[in-house]
Amino acid sequence: MSQYYKPHRKVDWNYGGPRWRLSRSKIDLFIQCPRCFYIDNKLGTARPPGFPFNLNSAVDKLLKKEFDIHRYAKSTHPLMSKYGVDAIPFEHKNMDTWRENFKGIDCFHAPTGFTVSGAIDDVWVNPKGELHIVDYKATSKDEEVTLDAEWQDGYKRQMEIYQWLFRQNGFTVSDTGYFVYANGKTDAEAFDAKLEFDIKVIPYTGKADWIDKTLLEIKACLDIDAIPQTGEACDYCTYRKAVGEVLQPFIKKDVPNSKVSKVKSKDSEDSHEQSLFS
Ligand code: SF4
Repeated sequence: MSQYYKPHRKVDWNYGGPRWRLSRSKIDLFIQCPRCFYIDNKLGTARPPGFPFNLNSAVDKLLKKEFDIHRYAKSTHPLMSKYGVDAIPFEHKNMDTWRENFKGIDCFHAPTGFTVSGAIDDVWVNPKGELHIVDYKATSKDEEVTLDAEWQDGYKRQMEIYQWLFRQNGFTVSDTGYFVYANGKTDAEAFDAKLEFDIKVIPYTGKADWIDKTLLEIKACLDIDAIPQTGEACDYCTYRKAVGEVLQPFIKKDVPNSKVSKVKSKDSEDSHEQSLFS
Protein backbone atom coordinates (compact mmCIF):
# COMPACT_ATOMS: atom_id res chain seq x y z
CA MET A 1 0.00 0.00 0.00
CA SER A 2 1.25 3.47 -0.77
CA GLN A 3 2.69 5.22 2.25
CA TYR A 4 0.86 8.37 1.07
CA TYR A 5 -2.67 6.99 0.70
CA LYS A 6 -4.68 7.36 3.89
CA PRO A 7 -8.28 6.32 3.19
CA HIS A 8 -9.76 7.79 6.37
CA ARG A 9 -9.27 11.52 6.48
CA LYS A 10 -9.45 13.74 9.57
CA VAL A 11 -13.01 14.68 10.47
CA ASP A 12 -12.20 18.39 9.93
CA TRP A 13 -12.26 17.70 6.22
CA ASN A 14 -15.64 15.93 6.20
CA TYR A 15 -18.97 17.56 5.36
CA GLY A 16 -19.88 19.75 8.32
CA GLY A 17 -16.23 20.15 9.36
CA PRO A 18 -14.48 23.52 9.24
CA ARG A 19 -12.24 22.64 6.28
CA TRP A 20 -14.80 21.02 3.98
CA ARG A 21 -15.33 22.72 0.61
CA LEU A 22 -17.13 21.47 -2.44
CA SER A 23 -14.54 21.41 -5.21
CA ARG A 24 -15.52 21.01 -8.81
CA SER A 25 -13.95 17.50 -8.83
CA LYS A 26 -16.24 16.52 -5.92
CA ILE A 27 -19.24 17.78 -7.89
CA ASP A 28 -18.13 15.53 -10.73
CA LEU A 29 -17.72 12.58 -8.36
CA PHE A 30 -21.31 13.13 -7.18
CA ILE A 31 -22.53 13.07 -10.80
CA GLN A 32 -20.59 9.88 -11.48
CA CYS A 33 -21.58 8.06 -8.29
CA PRO A 34 -23.53 9.54 -5.34
CA ARG A 35 -22.51 6.60 -3.17
CA CYS A 36 -18.76 7.11 -3.58
CA PHE A 37 -19.29 10.84 -3.08
CA TYR A 38 -21.16 10.19 0.19
CA ILE A 39 -18.58 7.70 1.49
CA ASP A 40 -15.85 10.20 0.71
CA ASN A 41 -17.42 13.46 1.90
CA LYS A 42 -19.72 12.38 4.70
CA LEU A 43 -18.08 9.23 6.02
CA GLY A 44 -14.56 10.47 5.29
CA THR A 45 -13.17 7.46 3.41
CA ALA A 46 -11.71 8.36 0.04
CA ARG A 47 -11.04 6.16 -2.97
CA PRO A 48 -7.34 5.63 -3.74
CA PRO A 49 -6.10 8.38 -6.03
CA GLY A 50 -5.13 7.59 -9.63
CA PHE A 51 -1.55 7.78 -10.83
CA PRO A 52 -0.32 11.34 -11.36
CA PHE A 53 -0.22 12.37 -15.02
CA ASN A 54 3.22 13.91 -14.93
CA LEU A 55 3.55 14.48 -18.68
CA ASN A 56 0.18 16.29 -18.76
CA SER A 57 1.27 18.41 -15.80
CA ALA A 58 4.48 19.31 -17.64
CA VAL A 59 2.46 20.48 -20.67
CA ASP A 60 0.19 22.54 -18.39
CA LYS A 61 3.15 24.17 -16.73
CA LEU A 62 4.82 25.08 -20.03
CA LEU A 63 1.59 26.46 -21.51
CA LYS A 64 1.08 28.58 -18.40
CA LYS A 65 4.60 29.98 -18.71
CA GLU A 66 4.05 30.75 -22.38
CA PHE A 67 0.68 32.48 -21.87
CA ASP A 68 2.11 34.39 -18.90
CA ILE A 69 4.66 36.05 -21.20
CA HIS A 70 1.75 37.44 -23.24
CA ARG A 71 -0.23 38.24 -20.09
CA TYR A 72 2.47 40.59 -18.83
CA ALA A 73 3.11 42.00 -22.33
CA LYS A 74 -0.68 42.45 -22.83
CA SER A 75 -0.29 40.80 -26.23
CA THR A 76 -2.11 38.14 -28.17
CA HIS A 77 -0.59 34.67 -28.22
CA PRO A 78 0.00 33.35 -31.78
CA LEU A 79 -2.44 30.49 -31.10
CA MET A 80 -5.21 33.01 -30.39
CA SER A 81 -4.51 34.75 -33.71
CA LYS A 82 -4.35 31.43 -35.56
CA TYR A 83 -7.77 30.39 -34.23
CA GLY A 84 -9.36 33.85 -34.58
CA VAL A 85 -9.78 34.51 -30.85
CA ASP A 86 -9.91 38.27 -30.28
CA ALA A 87 -8.52 38.32 -26.73
CA ILE A 88 -5.40 38.52 -24.60
CA PRO A 89 -4.53 36.58 -21.43
CA PHE A 90 -6.26 38.23 -18.45
CA GLU A 91 -4.07 39.83 -15.80
CA HIS A 92 -5.39 39.86 -12.23
CA LYS A 93 -3.78 39.94 -8.77
CA ASN A 94 -5.50 36.67 -7.87
CA MET A 95 -4.43 34.74 -10.96
CA ASP A 96 -1.84 32.61 -9.12
CA THR A 97 -4.35 31.72 -6.37
CA TRP A 98 -7.04 30.89 -8.92
CA ARG A 99 -4.64 28.48 -10.59
CA GLU A 100 -3.48 26.74 -7.43
CA ASN A 101 -4.92 23.34 -6.55
CA PHE A 102 -6.67 23.25 -3.15
CA LYS A 103 -7.12 27.05 -3.36
CA GLY A 104 -8.56 28.21 -6.68
CA ILE A 105 -11.50 30.56 -7.00
CA ASP A 106 -14.45 30.03 -4.66
CA CYS A 107 -17.86 31.40 -3.74
CA PHE A 108 -20.45 30.95 -1.02
CA HIS A 109 -23.66 29.37 -2.33
CA ALA A 110 -26.39 30.66 0.00
CA PRO A 111 -29.17 28.10 -0.75
CA THR A 112 -26.93 25.23 0.38
CA GLY A 113 -24.40 27.00 2.61
CA PHE A 114 -21.60 25.39 0.56
CA THR A 115 -18.31 27.00 -0.33
CA VAL A 116 -17.78 25.89 -3.93
CA SER A 117 -14.31 26.02 -5.44
CA GLY A 118 -12.26 25.19 -8.52
CA ALA A 119 -8.71 25.77 -9.79
CA ILE A 120 -8.53 27.06 -13.35
CA ASP A 121 -5.75 26.88 -15.94
CA ASP A 122 -6.22 30.29 -17.56
CA VAL A 123 -8.55 33.18 -18.30
CA TRP A 124 -8.53 35.38 -21.39
CA VAL A 125 -10.27 38.71 -21.81
CA ASN A 126 -11.80 40.12 -25.01
CA PRO A 127 -11.98 43.81 -26.03
CA LYS A 128 -15.50 44.07 -24.52
CA GLY A 129 -14.06 43.10 -21.11
CA GLU A 130 -15.74 39.68 -21.08
CA LEU A 131 -13.75 36.78 -19.67
CA HIS A 132 -13.21 33.50 -21.49
CA ILE A 133 -12.39 30.53 -19.26
CA VAL A 134 -9.57 28.42 -20.67
CA ASP A 135 -8.57 24.88 -19.86
CA TYR A 136 -5.41 23.13 -21.07
CA LYS A 137 -5.58 19.47 -22.04
CA ALA A 138 -2.88 17.10 -23.24
CA THR A 139 -3.17 13.76 -24.98
CA SER A 140 -1.53 11.69 -27.68
CA LYS A 141 -3.68 10.17 -30.38
CA ASP A 142 -3.47 9.63 -34.13
CA GLU A 143 -6.81 11.19 -34.95
CA GLU A 144 -7.77 14.85 -34.64
CA VAL A 145 -8.63 15.92 -31.09
CA THR A 146 -12.29 16.85 -30.49
CA LEU A 147 -14.69 17.16 -27.56
CA ASP A 148 -17.12 14.62 -28.95
CA ALA A 149 -16.47 11.57 -26.76
CA GLU A 150 -18.94 10.82 -23.96
CA TRP A 151 -16.14 10.66 -21.39
CA GLN A 152 -15.31 14.29 -22.23
CA ASP A 153 -18.61 15.47 -20.71
CA GLY A 154 -16.60 15.88 -17.51
CA TYR A 155 -14.38 18.43 -19.31
CA LYS A 156 -17.47 20.38 -20.35
CA ARG A 157 -18.89 20.36 -16.82
CA GLN A 158 -15.50 21.50 -15.54
CA MET A 159 -15.59 24.50 -17.91
CA GLU A 160 -19.19 25.30 -16.91
CA ILE A 161 -18.41 25.27 -13.19
CA TYR A 162 -15.47 27.63 -13.71
CA GLN A 163 -17.66 29.99 -15.74
CA TRP A 164 -20.27 29.89 -12.97
CA LEU A 165 -17.65 30.51 -10.24
CA PHE A 166 -16.32 33.60 -12.02
CA ARG A 167 -19.86 34.94 -12.49
CA GLN A 168 -20.57 34.38 -8.80
CA ASN A 169 -17.47 36.49 -8.12
CA GLY A 170 -18.90 39.40 -10.10
CA PHE A 171 -17.05 38.98 -13.41
CA THR A 172 -18.71 39.23 -16.80
CA VAL A 173 -18.07 35.87 -18.39
CA SER A 174 -18.67 34.87 -21.98
CA ASP A 175 -20.50 31.57 -22.56
CA THR A 176 -17.62 30.70 -24.89
CA GLY A 177 -14.69 29.01 -23.19
CA TYR A 178 -11.64 27.50 -24.88
CA PHE A 179 -9.79 24.22 -24.57
CA VAL A 180 -6.13 24.49 -25.55
CA TYR A 181 -5.57 20.89 -26.58
CA ALA A 182 -1.99 19.60 -27.02
CA ASN A 183 -1.70 16.38 -29.01
CA GLY A 184 1.66 14.56 -28.75
CA LYS A 185 2.87 13.44 -32.18
CA THR A 186 4.10 9.89 -32.58
CA ASP A 187 4.95 9.99 -36.29
CA ALA A 188 8.55 11.24 -35.91
CA GLU A 189 11.25 8.90 -37.23
CA ALA A 190 12.95 8.71 -33.85
CA PHE A 191 12.27 9.89 -30.36
CA ASP A 192 15.57 11.78 -29.97
CA ALA A 193 14.46 12.82 -26.47
CA LYS A 194 11.85 15.18 -27.91
CA LEU A 195 8.10 14.95 -27.96
CA GLU A 196 6.43 17.38 -30.35
CA PHE A 197 2.82 18.52 -30.12
CA ASP A 198 0.10 19.85 -32.36
CA ILE A 199 -1.89 22.41 -30.42
CA LYS A 200 -5.48 23.20 -31.22
CA VAL A 201 -7.79 25.76 -29.64
CA ILE A 202 -11.34 24.36 -29.40
CA PRO A 203 -14.20 26.71 -28.46
CA TYR A 204 -16.98 25.40 -26.25
CA THR A 205 -20.29 27.10 -25.37
CA GLY A 206 -21.02 26.42 -21.71
CA LYS A 207 -24.45 26.11 -20.08
CA ALA A 208 -24.59 26.59 -16.34
CA ASP A 209 -28.31 25.83 -15.90
CA TRP A 210 -27.64 22.45 -14.21
CA ILE A 211 -25.39 23.76 -11.44
CA ASP A 212 -27.86 25.21 -8.89
CA LYS A 213 -30.07 22.15 -9.18
CA THR A 214 -27.11 19.80 -8.73
CA LEU A 215 -25.88 21.69 -5.66
CA LEU A 216 -29.31 21.25 -4.06
CA GLU A 217 -29.23 17.53 -4.90
CA ILE A 218 -25.77 17.28 -3.31
CA LYS A 219 -27.06 18.95 -0.14
CA ALA A 220 -30.02 16.57 0.03
CA CYS A 221 -27.65 13.62 -0.45
CA LEU A 222 -25.30 14.77 2.33
CA ASP A 223 -28.09 15.59 4.77
CA ILE A 224 -29.64 12.12 4.82
CA ASP A 225 -28.40 9.27 6.98
CA ALA A 226 -28.67 6.64 4.30
CA ILE A 227 -26.23 5.33 1.75
CA PRO A 228 -27.24 6.58 -1.71
CA GLN A 229 -27.40 4.48 -4.87
CA THR A 230 -24.28 3.87 -6.92
CA GLY A 231 -23.85 5.48 -10.31
CA GLU A 232 -23.09 3.48 -13.40
CA ALA A 233 -21.12 0.23 -13.05
CA CYS A 234 -17.55 1.03 -12.19
CA ASP A 235 -14.34 -0.96 -11.96
CA TYR A 236 -13.74 -0.10 -8.30
CA CYS A 237 -16.98 -1.68 -7.12
CA THR A 238 -16.61 -4.67 -9.43
CA TYR A 239 -13.18 -5.24 -7.90
CA ARG A 240 -14.43 -4.74 -4.35
CA LYS A 241 -17.26 -7.22 -4.91
CA ALA A 242 -14.91 -9.79 -6.47
CA VAL A 243 -12.50 -9.47 -3.53
CA GLY A 244 -15.39 -9.93 -1.11
CA GLU A 245 -16.44 -13.16 -2.88
CA VAL A 246 -12.92 -14.52 -2.96
CA LEU A 247 -12.44 -13.87 0.76
CA GLN A 248 -15.76 -15.40 1.87
CA PRO A 249 -14.39 -18.96 2.28
CA PHE A 250 -11.65 -17.65 4.55
CA ILE A 251 -14.08 -15.61 6.61
CA LYS A 252 -16.52 -18.53 6.95
CA LYS A 253 -13.83 -20.89 8.28
CA ASP A 254 -14.29 -21.22 11.97
CA VAL A 255 -10.82 -20.17 13.01
CA PRO A 256 -9.79 -17.61 15.56
CA ASN A 257 -9.61 -14.04 14.30
CA SER A 258 -5.93 -13.73 14.97
CA LYS A 259 -5.22 -16.60 12.56
CA VAL A 260 -7.56 -15.34 9.84
CA SER A 261 -6.24 -11.84 9.79
CA LYS A 262 -2.58 -12.77 9.74
CA VAL A 263 -0.93 -15.16 7.30
CA LYS A 264 2.71 -15.91 6.68
CA SER A 265 4.02 -14.49 3.43
CA LYS A 266 5.48 -17.45 1.48
CA ASP A 267 7.46 -15.25 -0.89
CA SER A 268 8.97 -13.04 1.70
CA GLU A 269 12.58 -13.79 2.56
CA ASP A 270 12.11 -12.83 6.16
CA SER A 271 8.67 -14.51 6.38
CA HIS A 272 7.17 -11.41 7.93
CA GLU A 273 3.45 -11.47 8.64
CA GLN A 274 1.05 -9.87 6.20
CA SER A 275 -2.51 -8.97 6.90
CA LEU A 276 -4.89 -10.90 4.67
CA PHE A 277 -7.13 -7.89 4.39
CA SER A 278 -4.46 -5.23 3.88
S1 SF4 B 1 -19.75 2.15 -7.94
FE1 SF4 B 1 -17.62 2.86 -7.94
S2 SF4 B 1 -17.78 4.97 -7.67
FE2 SF4 B 1 -19.68 4.03 -6.89
S3 SF4 B 1 -19.46 3.44 -4.72
FE3 SF4 B 1 -18.79 1.78 -5.93
S4 SF4 B 1 -16.57 2.17 -6.07
FE4 SF4 B 1 -17.48 4.05 -5.63
